[in-house]
Amino acid sequence: MKIFKLIFVALVVTCCHQNEKQSGESVHPNQFNTAQGPVDEAALGITLSHEHVMSNFGKDIGETAVYDSIRLFEQVIPYLKELKSLGVASLFDCTTEYFGRRIDLLKALSEATGIQIITNTGFYGAADDRYIPDFAYQANPETIAAGWIKEFEQGIQGTGVKPGFIKLAFDEGKPPSEIDSKLFEAGLLTHLSTGLTLAVHTGNNLEAAKVQEALLNQYGVDASAWIWTHANKVEDDRVMLERARQGAWISLDGVKTSNIDEYLKRLVLFKEHNLLNKVLLSHDGNGFPGGGEIRKFEAIFTHLIPAMKENGFSEEDIRQLLVENPREAFKIRTRTGPTS
Ligand SMILES: [Zn+2]
Repeated sequence: MKIFKLIFVALVVTCCHQNEKQSGESVHPNQFNTAQGPVDEAALGITLSHEHVMSNFGKDIGETAVYDSIRLFEQVIPYLKELKSLGVASLFDCTTEYFGRRIDLLKALSEATGIQIITNTGFYGAADDRYIPDFAYQANPETIAAGWIKEFEQGIQGTGVKPGFIKLAFDEGKPPSEIDSKLFEAGLLTHLSTGLTLAVHTGNNLEAAKVQEALLNQYGVDASAWIWTHANKVEDDRVMLERARQGAWISLDGVKTSNIDEYLKRLVLFKEHNLLNKVLLSHDGNGFPGGGEIRKFEAIFTHLIPAMKENGFSEEDIRQLLVENPREAFKIRTRTGPTS
């Protein structure tokens, strides 16, 4: 019976992929774009801000969007249902175009599980730039931004599904490359036109963080439109705290059962500095990594929250981190700041 159900879902997906076009509803203030259309902010609920429902990291750029959908559904549907039973209502999916983004599959998974999935526009500039399409090297930021803005205005690839944020990335451990900076400029133009927040894989690359800070100022975009993705890798806490004080979002997104103490320490630090309202928590998990076993995204609920409660964090603090902060960080609105 189960296998028939999966085949049915796969057929529906193929069919929808080819024929169905939703009307391009426009998003209202205080609404979020999900794979099933816009929802009011009150419906966002407990939110994971950086996960991958699936991705094909490691595969060739031309093969990242190819999945065995039967196996994918068999693995990911029960897992998303399990997450839902842990209280998760929404998740921001960080798999970009050319890196394995498949809107039709995200939509089917969301429909089958009731989890709200928010997808992105943008390109993934880490992994030595291997997931950046060739045309981006020749194009100027305006041309690149035009494609992302079109996804926001008209929906992605004829599906009617609109992105809920901009995902970008800088390579770690090397000076920021010309292409990563150019994509960031395209992201800033997209923000100014759409109000979508920029989530930028930066990790411990402080030089990349500085370049981004300078470009945000140059384009007159406020720090609160920017998420420092993988900030959990930053070695110098002071840099993170300073950026949070300026309004940036600090994404501690690598929670695992094996690193709870490390996260707890960081959360205590942010709480002591009254900056818990600038922190995003997630796992950077993956439901179907390269077609393999799930990289789980549940340790926040099974391990971190119990540890937080034992260490003086209130229900209110937890709600702040998992409900209010994601809602505020990803709110669709243009955030301008002083131009330099
Ligand atoms: Zn990720």
